[in-house]
Amino acid sequence: MTDRDRSRKDASIRGGANTHTLWLVGLLLVGGACDAAPPSKPEQDLPIPIPELEERLERRGPKAHLQRIDVYGAERKNAAGARVVLLFEGAPLFHQKQLPARGVLPARIAIELVDTDWGKSVPVSQTVGRGGVERVRLAMPNPRVVIDLQPGASGRVFYFTDPYRIVIDVNADGATRTKKRRPVVVLDPGHGGDEPGAANDEYDLVEAKLALEIAKLTKDRLRAIMPSARVLLTRDDDTSLSLEARCALANAMEADVFVSIHFNASLEEIRKGGVTTFVLDTTNNRQALRLAARENGTRVAEVTGIQTLLARLHRRGQTNESLRLASKIQRRTLKHGRAVLPRLADRGVRRAMFYVLVGARMPAVLVETSFLTYEPEARALTTLNYRRALADGTASGIASYLRAR
Ligand SMILES: [Zn+2]
Repeated sequence: MTDRDRSRKDASIRGGANTHTLWLVGLLLVGGACDAAPPSKPEQDLPIPIPELEERLERRGPKAHLQRIDVYGAERKNAAGARVVLLFEGAPLFHQKQLPARGVLPARIAIELVDTDWGKSVPVSQTVGRGGVERVRLAMPNPRVVIDLQPGASGRVFYFTDPYRIVIDVNADGATRTKKRRPVVVLDPGHGGDEPGAANDEYDLVEAKLALEIAKLTKDRLRAIMPSARVLLTRDDDTSLSLEARCALANAMEADVFVSIHFNASLEEIRKGGVTTFVLDTTNNRQALRLAARENGTRVAEVTGIQTLLARLHRRGQTNESLRLASKIQRRTLKHGRAVLPRLADRGVRRAMFYVLVGARMPAVLVETSFLTYEPEARALTTLNYRRALADGTASGIASYLRAR
């Protein structure tokens, strides 16, 4: 089955919020970091005015509306980073400016919004004080959101569409953090709450529930075989969790490994199910570009921007590390799964633009652990024996990766 077929099938799964199908990720290419210092404004002119846009970009739709500002990852003391997410109705045009510290002013990231307003419920200023973010505030006259950074912190900006979100990923200054001794593993049970994911009614299987159970079993197993590891779950009950929050936790915890756990499904009858492990696509694959463009109703040129974004977000060697992690998880999950289901198919390690993996600062993979809609696997999934085998395989793959580092 091709990626395209697979994605089409995923997109039509009943009840699935399709958060694990292909998402469009976009990048606004911006000028140099420090090009925005106004030449002659006094420093007490708060907030720092940003020069008028050189050219007013042509709007493609109605006025956009900033609905909400969420901050993720900063709940913990010593958070290694935080993620600020601006959620919009409509698609805003924006410019980002990264401004260096000057006088009493901290370094800032300013998101200047074009033809955009915001609701009264959006706080004018919120103090964060962790994860590299000191404060998030709204500023005028040109409507903009300013993120005041803590000393030594740095950030990067990208956006997701549908709905439109501008994401500001902030990395705290490493020197201020405590030195980590134990490996940290973040397991992410896909979906949850009002997003049940895929389902198989005949066998009473719901992806969100199964993913949570597999994650818990994987955690138990991992702690047994690798007691030094610290294992965290992005959610430990049936609650909704945004995709942005999942990876933000892993970044804030300086996790060594991030594994998102899902189950595959297809509306059509399939001749084989199987296990697939995905890494984030950073290759300039024509087919993948066309696929993302088609799936998201955008032009290939925009998707090309995505590749630039992904390349920038990925530290050198991270894709290779993710591939190593993926191949270990894939191999071990198959091995353990086949002890119960000898004909469990190997769909291999593959690449796709999974939104939940974007921005991860550690090796990160997404596992489609089995097919809910392939009868032999669905039947097996009703048994604890098979579910435990899948979890044992995932845990074994993670431990094997961590030990070989
Ligand atoms: Zn899923």
